[in-house]
Amino acid sequence: MSNATLGKAAILMFGPPGSGKGTVSKVLMGRLGLPHVSTGDILRENVQAGTELGRQAKAIMDAGKLVPDDLVNQIVAERLSRPDCARGCILDGYPRTLEQGQVLTGLLERLGLEPVVVSLEVDYNIIVARLTARRSCPKCGAVYNLVSKPPMAGGLCEVDSTPVITRDDDREDVIRQRFASYEKQTQPLADYFTGTVKRFYRVTVGEGSPEENSERVCGILLNG
Ligand code: AMP
Repeated sequence: MSNATLGKAAILMFGPPGSGKGTVSKVLMGRLGLPHVSTGDILRENVQAGTELGRQAKAIMDAGKLVPDDLVNQIVAERLSRPDCARGCILDGYPRTLEQGQVLTGLLERLGLEPVVVSLEVDYNIIVARLTARRSCPKCGAVYNLVSKPPMAGGLCEVDSTPVITRDDDREDVIRQRFASYEKQTQPLADYFTGTVKRFYRVTVGEGSPEENSERVCGILLNG
């Protein structure tokens, strides 16, 4: 599909845990032909590969804290300078602090990319319902939902018949905590970008599936 309307854009995906941000980013990557740049994925790859960066980031990530701004800013500057990002990219999980947002604004200006914000807005109660119904297979990682995509009878994984489990961070008290930290982190960024970018789309994702929501976001980005 053509993205003449979109132009050379860096799409900044905002959305609380459970909003389907990861799925929407991946669908956009396929539909818009732009690379998906996730700082969380890059950091995890570095931890796996045992690089110096991974060594520095691991303990911080394990504690659920944010990696220092300097480190992630450098990762993103390096990644966005590669040729595959020349026409644009989809940023997922970055920026997360006001300083990262300000540094990113300067970087995008130098690279000739326009920041376009897509903020997925979803009611807290819907997130709780969705995440508390989520189950996953501890062996192969397959993801289920008790309502929309249940595992086999007896709560077994379709792939390898392992009993599915609830992720530790999908329990309601933890979800509340993750949601609150997201709001606290993102509000100043949302305020900053509201004042600085031309295109800031708030998309209410409500009860729709991540796939339906992805189509809506594509439509908005491609048709303005
Ligand atoms: P994510 O997969 O986006 O939830 O990221 C996993 C972890 O990586 C986070 O909990 C942070 O420790 C770290 N991380 C990812 N992106 C950033 C960022 N933009 N700023 C700081 N830390 C980050």
